[in-house]
Amino acid sequence: MIRLKPDHLADIEAAAEAAYPYEACGLLVGRAVGADAIEVTRVVPSRNVAAEQEARKDRFEIDPKLRFDVMRECEGGPEDIVGHYHSHPDHPAEPSAIDLSMAYDREYVWVIAAVAAGRVARVAAHRLNRAGDAFEEIPLRVQGQEGA
Ligand SMILES: [Zn+2]
Repeated sequence: MIRLKPDHLADIEAAAEAAYPYEACGLLVGRAVGADAIEVTRVVPSRNVAAEQEARKDRFEIDPKLRFDVMRECEGGPEDIVGHYHSHPDHPAEPSAIDLSMAYDREYVWVIAAVAAGRVARVAAHRLNRAGDAFEEIPLRVQGQEGA
């Protein structure tokens, strides 16, 4: 399970809509809570640095310098990069074949915001399965909702 605060979700949705028809992306910083939950404490938006603008409609690349800076900020502290988010303009909130080809870290949570005609339609969280050959959806909870 991944837990976000309402502000985090609002930030992801706003970034996804602002970037439309291109993909938005950013890092999720947080910590493990208990055996099976990850709590997001910070959402860090990134530029989508995928090589060509046209390619940014169906792929994303987080700014490597931003990733490096955030990793360094987290060093020695209780928090770490726990995953990232990106948007899917006019595609479902399911990881694409391109996403699977880029996935290497089984601990990383992938939050995907589906944007339909400029509006966020659904936000879902996924993680690589044990074998690392497919994604599985994991529960996404917004604190203050659904009794969380
Ligand atoms: Zn994707």
